[in-house]
This record gives sequence, C-alpha cells and structure tokens, in this order.
Amino acid sequence: MSQASVAVPNPVPVQIPLREIVPWAVFAGILALLVLFFVSTESGAVELFSSNGLLHEFVHDGRHLLAFPCH
Ligand SMILES: [Zn+2]
Repeated sequence: MSQASVAVPNPVPVQIPLREIVPWAVFAGILALLVLFFVSTESGAVELFSSNGLLHEFVHDGRHLLAFPCH
C-alpha cells in the first residue's frame, strides 16, 4: 500500500501597513456614526429631514433593540 503525500504550502499572513488601514477605518467610523445617528436621534430628538415619520418607523425596532429612548 502506497501513501501519496501532498505538499501543502504554509500559509503566510499578509501584512497590511497601518497607513493603508487608517483611511478605511476613518471612513467606516464616519459611516457607523452616521448610521448610529439615524437609528438613535433622527426623527426623534432631532429631525434633519422631514420624512413624516417614515425614517423613524424604518429604524424603530433597531432603536428599541439598542435601548435608545423612543416613546
Ligand atoms: Zn418606539
């Protein structure tokens, strides 16, 4: 009985320089803050866009899930 061996290359971790990550991290942070604003505050304490409550209804479950004061 012969055993065939398969050469599996060792995985090498890819190094991503911090200089390339920072702009994407800032972008993701701004996007996250924007989403957080719309879920937590828009159509509640502040209404920047008059959506007649549609925006509030759209994020209403998320608002309750994250324990933001609602009604
Ligand atoms: Zn509510």
